[in-house]
Amino acid sequence: MTTSIDVLPMLLTEVEVVSAERLSPTFVRLSLGGAELADFGVDGPRHDQRIKLIFPDPVTGGITSVENPDESRMATRLDQPTEERGHMRTYTIRDVRGSGADTTIVVDIVLHSDGDEVGPGSNWAASATTGDRIVMLAPRAGFPYGGIEFTAPAGADLLMVADETAVPAVCTVLEQLPPTATGAVFMEVPTAADFRDVRGPSGVTVTWLARGDSPPGQRLHDEVVAHPGTPGAIVEVAPDEVDPDLWETPSYSSSGEEIARARAVGHEFDGLYARIAGESKVVTGLRRHLVNELHIDRSRVAFMGYWRRGVAMKS
Ligand SMILES: Cc1cc2nc3c(=O)[nH]c(=O)nc-3n(C[C@H](O)[C@H](O)[C@H](O)COP(=O)(O)OP(=O)(O)OC[C@H]3O[C@@H](n4cnc5c(N)ncnc54)[C@H](O)[C@@H]3O)c2cc1C
Repeated sequence: MTTSIDVLPMLLTEVEVVSAERLSPTFVRLSLGGAELADFGVDGPRHDQRIKLIFPDPVTGGITSVENPDESRMATRLDQPTEERGHMRTYTIRDVRGSGADTTIVVDIVLHSDGDEVGPGSNWAASATTGDRIVMLAPRAGFPYGGIEFTAPAGADLLMVADETAVPAVCTVLEQLPPTATGAVFMEVPTAADFRDVRGPSGVTVTWLARGDSPPGQRLHDEVVAHPGTPGAIVEVAPDEVDPDLWETPSYSSSGEEIARARAVGHEFDGLYARIAGESKVVTGLRRHLVNELHIDRSRVAFMGYWRRGVAMKS
């Protein structure tokens, strides 16, 4: 029998924590499983595939109903009270293990606090334990879903820049690159205890940066402008110049910018492909450096604000 959930072009399903592991001071790794993940699937490489997790309301503990879903309900979910709709946040698929009804999806979640502001995602992950349940929105095999932003052309000179929220995406992309890939990766995390072994091609150098007492993203910015492949001067960004929804990729511009700008052929950075993700102000500074100063082709860069300091994600 075909039920209404079968006609949704994505999976909206309740999943259970199969295992929870504290990887380091900042990261907790959750394996999430559920029989309906048998229908999970991505057409082609997963790269930095994103999913949504819908966390229970912290007060009532109630989780979003997945009964009789339809697409219009997802479109209008912000009209529902939060205790019914839960809090939806975006994460990266770090790994997929098992198969069929035993499929589990692995996510690495950052434990953060910004004064008293913790956020329902981080808050839930901090105490998640085997058997806890949440709702996941993920690609269904055979249906287009979107949510993959890594689109480097073959043979590109890669530049990937990440704060801790984009570490899962960059580590996953690195593992899926061809052995001949070349480039540089810079990842900033709160402490050196968050550094970890990364699998990737030998031609891609990986530099871990411990934030320590530096302003978030400062070390990333300094490394990119000092990098011989993308040289330049430090760029300042005022807080009111930051678009909290910053999302500029080869196929989408949150600011409505024209993507296919005319530019000189034979530019010195023609071989580069850059993927920059993290806190929006930090990403804005690097965007100015790469696009405004170095005039790197917009079709070969993705600048993604994964979060904005002081702003909770839209639930
Ligand atoms: C495509 C994509 C993929 C992502 N993948 C991952 C992933 O794999 N793992 C992961 O952990 N995150 C990932 N993120 C980032 C994550 O969605 C945000 O950090 C989100 O705000 C966390 O929700 P929350 O409920 O914890 O906090 P929110 O309720 O959204 O925010 C509450 C407060 O916490 C602050 N805050 C939010 N995140 C951080 C942070 N990292 N450090 C310090 N303060 C913060 C906010 O500024 C706000 O003041 C991804 C985001 C995108 C867009």
